[in-house]
Amino acid sequence: MPRLKPKRRGISTEPTKVECQRSGSMRPSPLSSRTSAQMLPSGFDKRVVWREHLLRMQARTGRGGHLVRDEYKRYGRQLIMPEVGLHGQLRLKNARVLLVGVGGLGCPAAAYLAGAGVGTIGLMDGDTVEESNLHRQVAHTTSRVGMNKAESAREYLKSLNNTITVNVYKSHLSPEHALDVFRNFDLVLDCTDHPTSRYLISDACVLAGKPLVSASALKTEGQLIVLNNPPAPPGDPAGGPCYRCVFPTPPPPESVLSCGEGGILGPVVGTMGVLQALEAVKVLTSKTSASKDEPVRPTLLIFSAYSHPQFRSVRMRGRRADCACCSSQASITPQSLISGSLDYVAFCGVSAPVDLLEANDRVSATAFSQLPRDGSNTLIDVRDETQYAICALRGSINIPWSGSAAAFLENVRQRGLLTQDGRQLYTVCRFGNDSQSAARTLLNEAVNVKNITGGFEAWRKEVDPTWPDY
Ligand SMILES: [Zn+2]
Repeated sequence: MPRLKPKRRGISTEPTKVECQRSGSMRPSPLSSRTSAQMLPSGFDKRVVWREHLLRMQARTGRGGHLVRDEYKRYGRQLIMPEVGLHGQLRLKNARVLLVGVGGLGCPAAAYLAGAGVGTIGLMDGDTVEESNLHRQVAHTTSRVGMNKAESAREYLKSLNNTITVNVYKSHLSPEHALDVFRNFDLVLDCTDHPTSRYLISDACVLAGKPLVSASALKTEGQLIVLNNPPAPPGDPAGGPCYRCVFPTPPPPESVLSCGEGGILGPVVGTMGVLQALEAVKVLTSKTSASKDEPVRPTLLIFSAYSHPQFRSVRMRGRRADCACCSSQASITPQSLISGSLDYVAFCGVSAPVDLLEANDRVSATAFSQLPRDGSNTLIDVRDETQYAICALRGSINIPWSGSAAAFLENVRQRGLLTQDGRQLYTVCRFGNDSQSAARTLLNEAVNVKNITGGFEAWRKEVDPTWPDY
């Protein structure tokens, strides 16, 4: 739509309010704002209209407040978006958001929430910053290695936006205290990395009546879902499902890998953290509430960095009629949570230490280092090719353990190591677990083999302190 130009001085050709709405390209000018003020019906005081608007806003947000002049400038780029507007910005300013975990998910999520003007941000983490965190946990710095993560992130957030309040909780979430903390907030973000904390956070959100934005990331993949939204008391089908509705049983403990074990790409977990912040902003600034007639069915977003397409979404069911937390038959109550009688570690299971070998089938890293290197010993390194390329002992043979005994045995056979030629075989891996499985497989074939206890972790501690600590 072409811009209108004044034909003659003194005659206003500014677009009317209707024309303004039709044309996205028109820009307001000082003249237009003066004109619109002049167009208020007689008897209307602009200050009265503004005050009434604020009162309506305060009633809707449940809290008072207004934007100060600097905030219009700081938040102007999102303020002019219809999805936010003044209504949404005031809601953000009045909002209190808790992030449990200030790592790869929590750092970017907190940054965008602070940037967006969320008035109070709670940061909870009992861990300290480590050097291996820095490639993805972008709120921490080299100089803050050793500092509590929540404290470190607070420094970052205050330098980003010193108009907001940041509350720090320098401990891990416990069932006994979860409700006390959650009740101080409007919304919770699960930025942790283990099933035990995911179930605990979800249960506490249901019992405290808070919506939950939950995300996870490992290797090159991530997941995101908004739960208990809208929050409703247990048994009310109008409420959104909880984590237990979506994942009623925890994954087998041996299948749960940490980022230290499985690896993680920084931008992958960063993507999921940013998406958490986005969903949080959407929940906080939402202008509509869900229909009471239709059960809420959230979407599980699945991100896979090396797939095409990278994003997929799966529609989930609403609340489960037999959910242990959010149904009318729920066994999880505020009392059971606070009393500490719910054992989340036992519920999720604990993977027992791998112990597959007799004492005679083991050798320490120190003892292995003292063996003669005369060809009578052969070391099989069962780490994957990527880790083997990072560092390896000279003369070792790389035959990765993928979890399949048959595949491993076939690979060993192809390398000619199953022949009984008097050689003593040794197995090694990063921490000494997979190599036990490999040694057990070879022992079952009556092969002379011993496993290096503790793997390369022990090698670095006992024999070679320069061995890469990756
Ligand atoms: Zn549920």
